Amino acid sequence: MKSILTILSLFAFITAFTQQYEKCMTYQLMQYQESETPGYMQSVNEAFLRAKESNTVQDRATVYTIPVVVHIVYENPDENLADSVIFNQINRLNEDFRRINADTVNMRTDFETIVGDSFIQFELATVDPDGNPTNGITRTSTSVSSFLGIGGFPAEGVKSTADGGIDPWNQLDYLNIWVCDMSFFGTPGLLGYATPPNNLPHWPAGSADNMSDGVVVQYQAFGANNPNALDLGGGPIDVQGRTLVHEVGHYLGLRHIWGDGDCTAQDGIDDTPNAADQSNQDCNQVINSCTDTIGVLGDLPDMVENYMDYSEETCQNSFTDGQIDMMRSIIEVYRWELVNGTPAGLSQKEAFTLHVFPNPATDLVTITGIPSGHNNLQVYSETGQLIMEIANPQTKVELRDLEKGIYIVRVTSEVGIVNRRVVIL
Ligand code: ZN
Ligand code: CA
Repeated sequence: MKSILTILSLFAFITAFTQQYEKCMTYQLMQYQESETPGYMQSVNEAFLRAKESNTVQDRATVYTIPVVVHIVYENPDENLADSVIFNQINRLNEDFRRINADTVNMRTDFETIVGDSFIQFELATVDPDGNPTNGITRTSTSVSSFLGIGGFPAEGVKSTADGGIDPWNQLDYLNIWVCDMSFFGTPGLLGYATPPNNLPHWPAGSADNMSDGVVVQYQAFGANNPNALDLGGGPIDVQGRTLVHEVGHYLGLRHIWGDGDCTAQDGIDDTPNAADQSNQDCNQVINSCTDTIGVLGDLPDMVENYMDYSEETCQNSFTDGQIDMMRSIIEVYRWELVNGTPAGLSQKEAFTLHVFPNPATDLVTITGIPSGHNNLQVYSETGQLIMEIANPQTKVELRDLEKGIYIVRVTSEVGIVNRRVVIL
């Protein structure tokens, strides 16, 4: 019975997809995951709420810099995008996340008080996982003409060397961005998709295994100076590099601004105006599809300026403060190792790979990857107080009953010292 249900839900998913072009598949992938592993959506929603609650420090003084690797996977020369396109795209990502993009002048005054600088930025990695210098770009020639799967479902093959793509760099340490072709008979099937944090607590076992962490973007939608026209059948679309901005928003926990439903559906963010299903796919500044209350601002029109809308790239220019708080919380709670260390620290290869999981955890934390012989394991509080010390630990250690809080697990060995931050919820 279960297999029949699974097939039916997949069929429904495919049907829904093929009826219309989708700009972004992230939500559909979550729905599919829910059909495969009931409870998935609830656990994601719970995790969003926890992340929101945990953001007690609204201080944005710390600039978080996320190292990025761009994997270009190409079958023909058009798909093998030049470095200049990649640099343009990373600049766009930084301008938009720091809100120094020139088109913020187009923001309507309705929203001026609720948008801002996320103090999150991105840099192409300078050191690869083996500790060697890199420009943060990989190039892989493939015989795969399209990485779109059956019925428009992303096949994920681009994330696997065995399937004609390229394996990710350590997803704890790098934001992996794959750029490839996901066309169906020459027309892009989707522009991109991303994974929300996949190390959330209370996920059904194995539910995060279905997708490999990172972002995938259709090659014509990457970079504002892309020489390849993006045409979905209605003529060339004005590409500003904002597909990636939108997808990285998902990667950092954001939902679509309309909550992936009608006016009753929410995106979990207090200051984003609600909108009816799929909102605008243009730059309509008149439409007010849902009545809501945004603090003292009251009811606001649909926010086509928001990167998490489906509006045209030319009218998008901002994230709201609520979205920024969420993304920073997601980094602080779920993706801390991405920004763990100064940019200078990024150039130092860790002596060994220490795994601390689950993270966040509740009662049991497992630590593996401890080198054998002459080691020391210490647990520090967030303020640097030594909580626990284990001399000569086994290669695998389990910690129980830590109180709620943030801890640093430090393993000192003959080959070096590695720190991991762990959150107990
Ligand atoms: Zn999306
Ligand atoms: Ca409204």
